[in-house]
Amino acid sequence: MLKFCTLFSGSSGNSTFIGTDRAKLLIDAGVTAKSIEQELRLIGEEPGDLDVILITHEHIDHVKGAGVLARRYGTKIAANSRTWHAMEALVGRIDPENRIVTDDTAGCLYIGGLDISSFPIPHDAADPVGYTVSDGKHKITVATDTGSLSDSLLEHLEGSNAVLIEANHDMYMLEHGPYPRVLIARIKGKHGHLSNLSCGELASKLASQGTRAIILGHLSKENNVPDVAYGTVRRAMEEAGVKIVDYADVIPPDFFGLAGHPGNDGVSQPEAGLIVAPRYGHSKVILI
Ligand SMILES: [Zn+2]
Ligand SMILES: [Zn+2]
Repeated sequence: MLKFCTLFSGSSGNSTFIGTDRAKLLIDAGVTAKSIEQELRLIGEEPGDLDVILITHEHIDHVKGAGVLARRYGTKIAANSRTWHAMEALVGRIDPENRIVTDDTAGCLYIGGLDISSFPIPHDAADPVGYTVSDGKHKITVATDTGSLSDSLLEHLEGSNAVLIEANHDMYMLEHGPYPRVLIARIKGKHGHLSNLSCGELASKLASQGTRAIILGHLSKENNVPDVAYGTVRRAMEEAGVKIVDYADVIPPDFFGLAGHPGNDGVSQPEAGLIVAPRYGHSKVILI
């Protein structure tokens, strides 16, 4: 069974947990090691059990605690060579045996029965990627910091049972907020961040293709609020004919085995759970 949740999400730091009985990993470690240790224990995981930290890109909100965790627990860090080069000073000294350069394996890793692959995302970093993790039966994809919805990005997200995607900003709040024009243009650009509206379009597409759990993450502190992000994406999904299912704290595995909810016309209607990842603290835990 795959266990999946965010630990931290947003411009102040990102870290996502994916694990099974045999393999445990983080995607990014963008807050202090201490915060990550505490949050892992809250979901019943031990930081010393982590096999690898997969880095998406070198921005500080993705790498802040990675070096300390690697040195403290001997955890491996995986990133492509350009990202390694760009984050070297931020993560500090990492033992050669704990450094995985994903270029050497064409972006693919196999750890304890998990099949992990990376794919490029459009963002203003050295060589940013998203990750897909599969146990052979189910697939989870994490793709935040996505400036635009390229075909290749969609291709990798398609067929995922659960995803973490970005709902960075509300367009009105961004345009009328405190940011200078240059920064607004950067965020709105092809290599910036995804708006709630674009995220809604993406979430609808994914749910229609069978994705059952959608976590919205990387919300901007200044240009978004959880209710607005959730409302905008939910509306877009409902308009596209997706039924939103509300769950309590844990999304149970049997949800992923259900057929679509039969709609009025007898045609099955796609269903999906929609969650906003908290900035601090873990999201609902998804078991697949
Ligand atoms: Zn970034
Ligand atoms: Zn980021």
